[in-house]
Amino acid sequence: MFEKTGIPSKEMVMEKFPTIDRINQGPVVVVECYKEIPCNPCQTACKFDAIYIGEDINSIPKVKNENCSGCAICLSKCPGLAIMVIDGSKSDETVQIRIPYELLPLPKEGDVVKGLSREGEHITNVKILKVLNPKSFDRTPVITFEVDRNYMYDIRNIKMEVQS
Ligand code: SF4
Ligand code: SF4
Repeated sequence: MFEKTGIPSKEMVMEKFPTIDRINQGPVVVVECYKEIPCNPCQTACKFDAIYIGEDINSIPKVKNENCSGCAICLSKCPGLAIMVIDGSKSDETVQIRIPYELLPLPKEGDVVKGLSREGEHITNVKILKVLNPKSFDRTPVITFEVDRNYMYDIRNIKMEVQS
């Protein structure tokens, strides 16, 4: 399926996620880069050496979860919008997820919007907690939203239709 659609299988996704213990410790990056391509801004953006590509720029990035602070700088630098941050330390019922989001209009803090799967299907609604859009992010804002833990491995995007 991936070769035809570009949509990873659940198994491929799960291989990119850190353990639930690490997620519950605090924010940590998930790098969904599945193909060997000549690209490395994620590695150069990370000041904590949490992403490693190495000398062969075609290599798939490896993540050192223990080094990641969840700062989200790499999210705004990845041209493929392939990186997100997940944080399970705030609640037993929900997780916080940060994604790059380049569409307009941007959501606002407190909005409840559609949460989409990797296939683009509406799977639940999510609450927007924060919108970061500093100049240094170069027009790739980073959105933080809260979602039920049941959807933490499935949700990957939002759709700006504010839910009542
Ligand atoms: S979130 Fe921050 S610390 Fe973690 S990999 Fe990205 S740039 Fe590095
Ligand atoms: S910047 Fe993004 S697309 Fe490029 S190697 Fe890193 S994760 Fe993959």
